Amino acid sequence: MRVVVIGGGPAGIQATRTLKTHKPDIEVTMIRPEPYSVIYCALPYVVEELVEREKIRKQDSLVTDVGANLIKDKAIKVDFDKKTVITEKSGEFEYGKLIIATGASPFIPPIKGSNLKNIATVKTEKDLDEILRYIKNGAKKAVVVGAGNIGIEMAVALYRKGIDTYLVEMQDRVIPNLLDKDMSEIPENEIREIGINLMLNTKVESLDGNLYVEKVNLSDGSSIQLGENDIIIFSVGVRANIEIFKDTKLGIDNFGIVVNEKMETNIKDVYAAGDVASFVSYIDKKPIGGKLATNAVPMGKILAYNLLGRDYEYQGFINGAITKVEKYRMGGTGFTEEVAKQRGFDTIVGYGETTTRFPIIPGAKKVKVKLIAEKKTLRILGAQVVAGEGVPGRIDTVSLAIQNNNTAMDLFNFSYCAQPFQSFYPANNAIVMAAEDILNKALKD
Ligand SMILES: Cc1cc2nc3c(=O)[nH]c(=O)nc-3n(C[C@H](O)[C@H](O)[C@H](O)COP(=O)(O)OP(=O)(O)OC[C@H]3O[C@@H](n4cnc5c(N)ncnc54)[C@H](O)[C@@H]3O)c2cc1C
Repeated sequence: MRVVVIGGGPAGIQATRTLKTHKPDIEVTMIRPEPYSVIYCALPYVVEELVEREKIRKQDSLVTDVGANLIKDKAIKVDFDKKTVITEKSGEFEYGKLIIATGASPFIPPIKGSNLKNIATVKTEKDLDEILRYIKNGAKKAVVVGAGNIGIEMAVALYRKGIDTYLVEMQDRVIPNLLDKDMSEIPENEIREIGINLMLNTKVESLDGNLYVEKVNLSDGSSIQLGENDIIIFSVGVRANIEIFKDTKLGIDNFGIVVNEKMETNIKDVYAAGDVASFVSYIDKKPIGGKLATNAVPMGKILAYNLLGRDYEYQGFINGAITKVEKYRMGGTGFTEEVAKQRGFDTIVGYGETTTRFPIIPGAKKVKVKLIAEKKTLRILGAQVVAGEGVPGRIDTVSLAIQNNNTAMDLFNFSYCAQPFQSFYPANNAIVMAAEDILNKALKD
């Protein structure tokens, strides 16, 4: 079998490694343009100088050590009839099976002035270098547009570099994909307290300037003045990298390349995985965004195992994700209350609040959990956690509950552990408390 993989991110790497590890005689060729694959998640921490620049580079040996061929080039065309991939410099590659893992790229909204200088996005090493260059040249002010995970992490990093930082978000809260308004106040206060200018319910309408952005015009009628060395960073989302497939017969929707549970596209022997793929929510089986490395990895693996003859199925995005702002950690999984309602669910929510250690133990931090359940069945639809520590374990627990179609009663009966330095008293657990709250509210209704 001759497999060509387009893309060297988590989906492509996992697919390649799984194939070559289990069946070394398969010929696998990975095509990717950048000199190094990078750990995107760590980019803000390079800006903040917590992580050295070089450390975000992944080693090529991740794929070459398992015997895959690595071609550092860009695919510019795929001929699905001839089964070939044409690249910019290296020519044509024949495939028996094609894996498309071209990821997604941040976009800049097409507003007036969006072609000016000193505008950046956050994804590639090139983006990183651009941002570092502005910092080195003495940027005094930065405007970060979009207060999602990446926007917040970048705003904190820029602020830590001594830059007067504005964080502009058009919705009424930060991290709107993960948190409802009632859970976002703690991180919002924290962002403001450290000195970042957070502007909610505010949209960037247009940019004025000759060569570079001199004025950022906002929907509330105010504006932010920028100098030549200042920077505006758009972190408003990503779009699937599907340009080279636009005029082909490959099935594409608003989220990317449409695949089934086996990661098969509508074209025989052509598969897609990761950010470039469009998939459905695990919860309601309808299309949903899910551009996360933690989705790309299982998609890449499942795809590869199926090529190896197994019969695995990807069940859908649950979208557990986490971030941090200074002393707080935040995360969400499944649907927010807002999204659940938008998708037609009548909901009931519960809250639990404890500390992360026994309150009598030094270093105990607060943890607040919100659970969202379907009113009729009490099936768990989502959760949000804001805490001083211990967020991923709680988010993963609820993700598993969602995956198992658990109800609030199941989580009320959840059997947890307790120890003074690692949990609240045995008397309670924030997830169980939130489930109990839902049961009590359900009884009242
Ligand atoms: C700043 C930042 C922070 C993030 N933090 C997190 C996090 O904390 N947790 C999390 O789960 N996710 C996070 N993500 C998202 C995560 O990085 C992506 O979901 C993940 O990288 C997707 O993997 P992928 O393999 O599908 O695509 P990508 O990693 O985007 O890789 C796509 C690959 O395809 C290549 N490619 C594109 N077009 C072509 C072409 N024409 N020819 C050849 N190659 C091509 C690209 O160069 C690249 O190598 C973050 C992303 C960013 C930018």
